[in-house]
Amino acid sequence: MPRTHATLPRLYVELDLSAGTQLTLGKEQSLYLAAVLRKSVGDEVVLFNGRDGAWRCALTSDSKKSVGLELIEQIAGQTPVSDLWYGFAPLKSERLDYVIQKAVEMGVGTIQPVITQRTQVNRLKHERLVANAIEAAEQCEVLSVPVVAPEMTLERLIDGWPAMRTLIVADEGAASSSPVETLSSLRGKPVGVLIGPEGGFSDQERDRLLALPYVVPISLGPRILRADTAAVAALAVIQAIIGDWR
Ligand code: SAM
Repeated sequence: MPRTHATLPRLYVELDLSAGTQLTLGKEQSLYLAAVLRKSVGDEVVLFNGRDGAWRCALTSDSKKSVGLELIEQIAGQTPVSDLWYGFAPLKSERLDYVIQKAVEMGVGTIQPVITQRTQVNRLKHERLVANAIEAAEQCEVLSVPVVAPEMTLERLIDGWPAMRTLIVADEGAASSSPVETLSSLRGKPVGVLIGPEGGFSDQERDRLLALPYVVPISLGPRILRADTAAVAALAVIQAIIGDWR
C-alpha cells in the first residue's frame, strides 16, 4: 500500500473534508497537536473521516484550545469499508484495548463484543472501545474506523445472524488441520469470525455453534492460544487466505 506522507500526524474527524475547507479542531485534538506535538502555524497534518479519503492540511492557528486547519489536497482516495465482521468475548482492561486495536490493524469492518457464559467482563465502556478503534486507525493509516457495536449475548447473536454470512468459529477442539482449504472455499463470500473467552466456549455453546448451518469451525494449530492471541491469529489467516492481503 503506497504510504502517503507517513511522517505527518494523522487525525480522525467527523467533519466533511473537501478542498479549501477551513475547520477548527476540538480541545483534545488541539491540545495534542499544539502542546504534545508542538505543531505551529504552517505545519502540516493528515485528516481522514472514513468517507472522503485522506487530506493534507496546514495549521492556520495553533492555540492549545482550538487549532485551525485549512485543507490543501487529497492525498489518498477513500478505500472501501471492510466487510469482515469480528466477534469476540471481551477481556479485561488493557487486553481488551489490545484486541480492539489489533482488530482495526487487521482490517475488520465491524467489531462485535459477544457475551458468552464464561466471558470475564459484562459491562463495557463503549466510548472507550470506540476511542481505541479511532486511535488504532490513526496509527495504522486505515481510512475508515470500524463500527464498534454494543455488546450482545451469544444467544442474541445467533438469533439475529444473517444466514448468507458464514461464521468462522475459532475452535480449539476442531481437528488440528490447516484452515487453508476450509477458508479458501469461502473466498468472495461474506464472513465473520468468532473467538471465545479465556475459559473457552461452554460445551453447550460449542454444541449449539457447531450445529448451525452457517458455522465453519477452524483450528488455529495444535496449541491452546490465549484469546487475544487467537484473535490476531484467526484474523491473519482469514486476511491472508481470503481477505485483503493480496
Ligand atoms: N478452553 C480452553 C481453556 O479454557 O483454556 C481454551 C480457550 S482459549 C484460551 C480462548 C479462545 O481462543 C477459544 O475459545 C478459541 O476461540 C480460541 N482458540 C485458542 N486456541 C485455539 C486453537 N488452537 N484453535 C482454534 N481456536 C483457538
